[in-house]
Amino acid sequence: MSSASAPLLPLVFDEPRRAKRPPRHLADLTPDERREAVTQAGLPGFRAAQVSHHYFSRLVDDPAQMTDLPVGLRAPLAAALLPRLLTPVHTLTADGGTTRKTLWRLHDGALVESVLMRYPNRATLCVSSQAGCGMACSFCATGQAGLQRNMSTGEIVDQVVAAARALAAGDVPGGPARLSNVVFMGMGEPLANYAAVIGAVRRMIEPPPAGLGLSARAITVSTVGLVPRMLQLADEGIPVTLALSLHAPDDELRNELVPVNTRWGVRQAVEAAWNYARVTKRRVSIEYALIKDVNDHAERADALGDLLTSYGDWGWVHVNLIPLNPTPGSQWTASRVEDEREFVRRLEAKGVPTTVRDTRGREIDGACGQLAAATS
Ligand code: SAH
Repeated sequence: MSSASAPLLPLVFDEPRRAKRPPRHLADLTPDERREAVTQAGLPGFRAAQVSHHYFSRLVDDPAQMTDLPVGLRAPLAAALLPRLLTPVHTLTADGGTTRKTLWRLHDGALVESVLMRYPNRATLCVSSQAGCGMACSFCATGQAGLQRNMSTGEIVDQVVAAARALAAGDVPGGPARLSNVVFMGMGEPLANYAAVIGAVRRMIEPPPAGLGLSARAITVSTVGLVPRMLQLADEGIPVTLALSLHAPDDELRNELVPVNTRWGVRQAVEAAWNYARVTKRRVSIEYALIKDVNDHAERADALGDLLTSYGDWGWVHVNLIPLNPTPGSQWTASRVEDEREFVRRLEAKGVPTTVRDTRGREIDGACGQLAAATS
């Protein structure tokens, strides 16, 4: 674990730092708690399951469309379970409409973004878990603005329900579709908002009407490397996919790119990722943004390959290279194509499966690391 001399960064904020919590929403609650909330509002408890069915199975949150509920109960039930959490400010599209970035305003005015990407055989939503981010990674737009606050489980889930609704309604070119994947790669560090994120994952995987019925494997939690939380996640018994944002195989460079590295270094972070694969039998992803002349040297590819294979070659890991999406004011840019190719070649030569991420949504500032809602 951390050495006593490591600087204690303000890293793990599980308690929201705001005065007023977001209103309680059915997505924050278990089915029993929903029933309880409805009873406390003086309404018949069994109605909670009907509202859950509308929200999670039908993706409906408009009381007028809940025609199996008595007219007089619709408004009070909606007030008890379905307060408005997200208000769309605007939606930008790219890639012929198949990439959609939505800017949301939360109840207290905080702004967050989510990005929906439709592919021929899947549709992935990139969700935010915090308004802003406290991790301060030097190449990431969200990191530059600092942390505003944690999002609630309901606020996280409602992004997913909104995307599933848009797909089901045929709002995305290609005909009506189902949402298949969710990645926690929007704004925020999900493991710094652990309880709310786990709650959201549970809601996403519970079968309807308790939840959305997504596959845990189709949900990716991406972390900067909060080692104690990675170890905790491994023991949670939910086989989500874990991604570790490494970006450098050596502490000297990673300290610069990812400041949390001064608390938990490269070895500790990679070991926690390996532990996750060992415990869950799920292959983990190592995320590596390729930055021209900063971290894309051939020696670093070799060092990364050696580091990963030192934990064995049983298929526990693959590397996902992300061409850097330049952020405003940064002097950094994406690697040359030939350096990217050489980086891939060297990793593969060491037996490490490697992919290069496509950069959907770049022109709408919707690509990885570009989300910075306060300025859009
Ligand atoms: N806090 C989480 C999620 C962040 S966003 C994490 O650190 O993993 C998802 C990925 O995008 C991370 O790997 C992050 O490091 C990467 N990223 C951030 N800024 C980027 C940029 N400008 N270009 C490319 N990738 C970036």
